[in-house]
Amino acid sequence: MSKPKHSKVIRPGFPLPVSDPVQDRFARPLRDLRLSVIDRCNLRCDYCMPADSLQGRGIFLPKPELLSDDELVRLVRVFVRLGVHKLRLTGGEPLLRPGFTDLVARLAALPGIDDLALTTNGILLPRHARALKAAGLGRITVSLDSIDAATFLRMSGGKGSAAEVLAGIKAAEAAGFDQLKINTVVQRGVNDNEIESLIGFFRGTGHIVRLIEFMDVGSLNHWDRTQVVASADLLKRIHDCWPLRPLPSKVHGETARRYAFEDGEGEVGFISSITQPFCGDCTRARVTADGNLYSCLFAHRGAALRPLLRQRSTDDALEAFLRGQWQAREDRYSELRSSIDGDSQRVEMFRMGG
Ligand code: SAM
Ligand code: SF4
Ligand code: SF4
Repeated sequence: MSKPKHSKVIRPGFPLPVSDPVQDRFARPLRDLRLSVIDRCNLRCDYCMPADSLQGRGIFLPKPELLSDDELVRLVRVFVRLGVHKLRLTGGEPLLRPGFTDLVARLAALPGIDDLALTTNGILLPRHARALKAAGLGRITVSLDSIDAATFLRMSGGKGSAAEVLAGIKAAEAAGFDQLKINTVVQRGVNDNEIESLIGFFRGTGHIVRLIEFMDVGSLNHWDRTQVVASADLLKRIHDCWPLRPLPSKVHGETARRYAFEDGEGEVGFISSITQPFCGDCTRARVTADGNLYSCLFAHRGAALRPLLRQRSTDDALEAFLRGQWQAREDRYSELRSSIDGDSQRVEMFRMGG
């Protein structure tokens, strides 16, 4: 794998909370943190949390095992010292976490976090969008796999509705979140024949649809490579309808390849973990709602942070631990996928947070 060039995190005009940015074994810095704040969800998307696989498993975390708001805020503060400046809150469904808006306000106020984003299924946005804006949330990604009522229900495990998600999008717009990202997982034989209508629906709205290849995350979702639609095929289809031109990455480590519509009606992104892996630029760490740190979406094992947080270790000790974990990192699962044993138990997406 080629070693990405390391550039220092520089934020002019800021009292720098970064003590010393860290790099992993492939010289990849730690820049982004994805924090799962809850593992529960009000949907049962078949590719993530399929209802049939959950039955009788008592799979969700008991409340005392979730990190508290104080613990999360402290953890993020320490991650900032290592170079994190992008924070994405995810889940399960983050808007189900009690007091979520207050947590957002505390995280938004942390020096060093200059990009605070949320990934949500959108169902609860009508209730929370305004307060989230007031709390300082910067950006929202809404997951929406289909605007067709029946396909949506098929993919969401019969829960929620496309109309509710679209109402959530409207509420986010009304609250002042003007450029949303819309995440769409594409599954062959399920929603792949609707992609043009979805793209057509959002063209010209300012929102950016990102088409995600169905990934082999976790062990419950019955992933099967034949259900993956390669981004290259989707790109060609969309280009045939509305000519596209490639755009440069906005930021280092961007997951999506971006294309602009030639007619100026916006852009579309492709997240192609299966067919075009992007491990070389991966600067993301993930922490589950119960405080396990993972350095890759496809990791088998995490590092438990909750004991450190609850046993009164100092911030310096916590920083040293996190630094050691990142320095030892050599993950590049997507690049090695074909040579790795795909049967071993992996962490579920609704735990890891996407
Ligand atoms: N519940 C929120 C939502 O759906 O936006 C946040 C958590 S969800 C796990 C985060 C993202 O992961 C969503 O955009 C979802 O579509 C994506 N995702 C879940 N399972 C996936 C899979 N097997 N392959 C690709 N993307 C997946
Ligand atoms: Fe819930 Fe998001 Fe997973 Fe769907 S993708 S089941 S909305 S956590
Ligand atoms: Fe990053 Fe792991 Fe995904 Fe590669 S497979 S891009 S290392 S999360």
